[in-house]
Amino acid sequence: MNPHTLSLRALLLLGLWHSGRRSLASAPELQDQPKKIAVIGGGIGGTAAAFYLREEFGPVVKIDVFESGSVGGRLATVKMGDYEYETGGSVIHPLNLHMKHFIEKIGLPPRKDLPSKMAIFDGKELVFEESNWFIINFLKMLWRYGLNFIRMQMWVEGVLDKFMRIYQYQQYGYSFSSVEKLLHAMGGDSFLTLMNQTLEEAMLADGFSQVFLNEIVAPITRVNYGQSVRINGFVGAVSLAGADSGLWAVDGGNKRVCLGLLYHSRSELISGKVTSISYKVRPSKRGTTAGFYEVNYVGESGSAHGLYDIVIVATPLHQGKSDIAFSGFSPPIPSHYPGRYHQTVATLVHGLLNVSYLGTAEPASEFTVSDVLTVDSKGSVIHSLSSLDPVHIPEGYKRPPASQAKVWKVFSPQPLTQEQLQSMFLSYDSVSETPWLAYPSYRPPQRRSPPFILHDRMYYLNAVEWAASAMEMSAISARNAALLAHHRWHEQGTKVDQEDLHTRLRGEL
Ligand SMILES: Cc1cc2nc3c(=O)[nH]c(=O)nc-3n(C[C@H](O)[C@H](O)[C@H](O)COP(=O)(O)OP(=O)(O)OC[C@H]3O[C@@H](n4cnc5c(N)ncnc54)[C@H](O)[C@@H]3O)c2cc1C
Repeated sequence: MNPHTLSLRALLLLGLWHSGRRSLASAPELQDQPKKIAVIGGGIGGTAAAFYLREEFGPVVKIDVFESGSVGGRLATVKMGDYEYETGGSVIHPLNLHMKHFIEKIGLPPRKDLPSKMAIFDGKELVFEESNWFIINFLKMLWRYGLNFIRMQMWVEGVLDKFMRIYQYQQYGYSFSSVEKLLHAMGGDSFLTLMNQTLEEAMLADGFSQVFLNEIVAPITRVNYGQSVRINGFVGAVSLAGADSGLWAVDGGNKRVCLGLLYHSRSELISGKVTSISYKVRPSKRGTTAGFYEVNYVGESGSAHGLYDIVIVATPLHQGKSDIAFSGFSPPIPSHYPGRYHQTVATLVHGLLNVSYLGTAEPASEFTVSDVLTVDSKGSVIHSLSSLDPVHIPEGYKRPPASQAKVWKVFSPQPLTQEQLQSMFLSYDSVSETPWLAYPSYRPPQRRSPPFILHDRMYYLNAVEWAASAMEMSAISARNAALLAHHRWHEQGTKVDQEDLHTRLRGEL
């Protein structure tokens, strides 16, 4: 890591960037502001977009957020017994600065941290089990994988250092018109290369061993993205960063961030499903014409529509995710872009784990592993098995040992059969199953990602998921969309797609 990056990181972490010059530069201009903006989707992407749109366009514009299900989207909890548990997006990286900023702004604390212990299961037995002692883990890793482990941390650090540049660009108000341009601004050609090769290709080319990829890297991509090391190298690096220490979650559930952002943005939540968006041209007061987006939706009291100056689509435009018809656009905008979303079923079970299912001879009372990851083998019907703690850790809470009934979360590609549940658990009294279309099914080389700009003043946030799907990625894309919407509204082309920003901004902080 070079000293410049170190100091940039330190400043970012100190939060100085939030009070930087950007906030002065973006003081709302009162003339010719848009009157109404629609955001379609109330997940972290849509609610973060509402938050940043308010920041860019000032207090007067009306912002409507349409949500057909529950606010939070893929951030969701279920109740089992007396407690709530995360069933979707659960952990946040310590360097996810937008998520950090949100909880500070809203006033939410992070959830209390509990120590965790990992093991790796090959479908028959545990091939690796973390010790409570750092030195033992280190020696075990060194013996089996040589320096691969340390080199992996450096590899991820290298990607992360470049990734962090986006915060500086956004703080100075720069935005990007496509996923590829955003990635290129952060990491140059190396990020685009990562998008177009598999994680396996990228790491083998950098000298990592196949054994290390199979036994350590694959279990991490399987728990985080339900997929193998043949996902793209960029999302692979994001996934490996997800194995870092210091991961955190929001006290009371991550979805609270979405509710907080809605409140802070002073947006109106419209509970309804958007069915179509069309472009209408109307005569204006000044004797010219003006274009509006007509958003048609089915709400609590039937069908209705609204006219908007700007629209942000914050839900994936893919089969099974949303079904919005776009009419009157040339060139046409598809309801579904190519590529599909990958199914991950999250099954929460309150029961007594059958530790012998994991091929271990340890008595359940001594089995303290909290996260069981799996290698890519025919014998593995599951991607992971984790002991789950409630979204709020009550005073005096201690994670129960495996010899007591508690809540476990199983990720699998298919719903678990009764038979599978009975072999994993000696007994159970409640089961909650959430079949998610969770994240893109990554198959590099990446065809071109869907566009950020769907039409003149209509933007698409979830295109970014084809680089990597994560809460922070949606937040970055949300800020990018708000900046892009602002600059294009005010015709400030100098803030869009600028080349070589890293060199130009060096020394600005
Ligand atoms: C099981 C699982 C585990 C994950 N783990 C992590 C993790 O640990 N860390 C992490 O950072 N990320 C994780 N992720 C990914 C993360 O949850 C997502 O990337 C992120 O939540 C996406 O947010 P979003 O707002 O972009 O999309 P969504 O959350 O999907 O929001 C879109 C919203 O739009 C609504 N909608 C759809 N169609 C319409 C319509 N026609 N009209 C109105 N509303 C509509 C939907 O109901 C939904 O609420 C995980 C995801 C899953 C499923």
